[in-house]
Amino acid sequence: MEKEKIKCVFCGGISELHQEEIELLDGKIILKEQPYYKCKKCRKEFVTSKQMKETENQLNVFSVTRPIVSTGRSLAITLPTDIAKFYKLKKGEKVTLIPENKHILKIKIC
Ligand SMILES: [Zn+2]
Repeated sequence: MEKEKIKCVFCGGISELHQEEIELLDGKIILKEQPYYKCKKCRKEFVTSKQMKETENQLNVFSVTRPIVSTGRSLAITLPTDIAKFYKLKKGEKVTLIPENKHILKIKIC
């Protein structure tokens, strides 16, 4: 379990543990009870790296499988509408492909 109170990373004051719901893809994906800290002194909100990892792990569950199609000489992957909308992607827009290892190819949205 998370600590109820930790030192604020900004001002050193006392920050308390809160939880919130994070909505993604127009509410299609709801991550419940995502923990974060809110400082009582400077009112800033922040998450610890452990909390961020947990959110990332939950998001990985929603990864989608897409078939590779061919368009002329290159291969293409189509994006589901929800994903395109969420990242505000439009036709003609450029993205960067980042090969991470033999099994992971990341897409960076500029
Ligand atoms: Zn603070």
